[in-house]
Amino acid sequence: MGDVGNILGSLVVALIIAIIIFLIFREIFCWYWKINVRVKLMEDTLAKLQTIAKKLDKISKKLDGAAAAEEETPAAEASCPSCGKPIPSGSTFCEHCGEKLS
Ligand SMILES: [Zn+2]
Repeated sequence: MGDVGNILGSLVVALIIAIIIFLIFREIFCWYWKINVRVKLMEDTLAKLQTIAKKLDKISKKLDGAAAAEEETPAAEASCPSCGKPIPSGSTFCEHCGEKLS
């Protein structure tokens, strides 16, 4: 029973040492290749790109709205003063209610 306990204890110690060595090497690797600095830079870049993308989206929507308004303006038809329904320009009577148009 004592032997099994010794082996288990040794295994636990070995495991802890392995984890510590792993963490130390990890820190050294991160420092040597500036991995933390790179990650920070990438996060900053991503945040800035997302801001730019949002602004571009807004501008694009505004441009789309302006283009749609420009398209609508010439196509806008006159409406009947009596019933309010759209009537083709140049007609003398409303085709919906028969109102005489000047
Ligand atoms: Zn009408």
